[in-house]
Amino acid sequence: MRKKIVAGNWKMNKDYNDGLALFSEVINMVKDEVVGDLKVVVCAPFIHLNSLVGLGKGYDKVSVGAQNAHQEEAGAYTGEISTSMLKSINVEYVILGHSERRQYFGENNALLAKKTDAALENGLKPIFCIGETFSERESGEYFNVVKSQLAEATFHLSADGFSKLVIAYEPVWAIGTGVTASSAQAQEIHAFIRKEIAAKYGQEVADNTSILYGGSCNPKNAEELFSQADIDGGLIGGASLKSRDFVDIAKAFN
Ligand code: 13P
Repeated sequence: MRKKIVAGNWKMNKDYNDGLALFSEVINMVKDEVVGDLKVVVCAPFIHLNSLVGLGKGYDKVSVGAQNAHQEEAGAYTGEISTSMLKSINVEYVILGHSERRQYFGENNALLAKKTDAALENGLKPIFCIGETFSERESGEYFNVVKSQLAEATFHLSADGFSKLVIAYEPVWAIGTGVTASSAQAQEIHAFIRKEIAAKYGQEVADNTSILYGGSCNPKNAEELFSQADIDGGLIGGASLKSRDFVDIAKAFN
């Protein structure tokens, strides 16, 4: 059975002390309030990660993730962080292919295929993001966009490699806009993504792949979204910066 996951993406928010305080609140709330087999992941800026892994030791419901990593192991890449460095501090997840990385840092599917390989080689679990822009949705191209993002960056993997991925569908027009995809819109494309995975890797791999929804998810709309058959959790931006909202979203699964 596939995992239910609620992951927070803090993006470039929270200084070191505020980040540690937020993470501690989340751990305590998850410990006291959230039951069931849900996994909570916090994807924080690099400078927080080592301390968060330390704070999270012993709480197996909460994992720590990075928001990006470089595709090479090591070398003259000033300012970059490799997947082996993340592994060396026991970070478990890494977001790859977020639309902000694609838009502001020119990341394309070919590069993301290399980053995915590097993450898997170092035993990290990629949360691989795909999703269309507003104009691609309006023109009806969104199925093709999502299909090629998935195929070009991840379908070179073996079935064993692919089954280590978590997929996050994040329509760009819903990110940080307050406009959420309706549960029917999200379910439609999640089912399509699962069908594409089944066509490539077979039904068992598809049925075991967690597909998260991201984009203006909040405590009010989470339950409706998570009730859809092919939505296995969420990738949460703004609402993950408030412990109460983030944990309430996680509790929407119960
Ligand atoms: P918001 O939840 O702020 O819309 O952000 C979603 C997101 O980009 C998570 O990766």
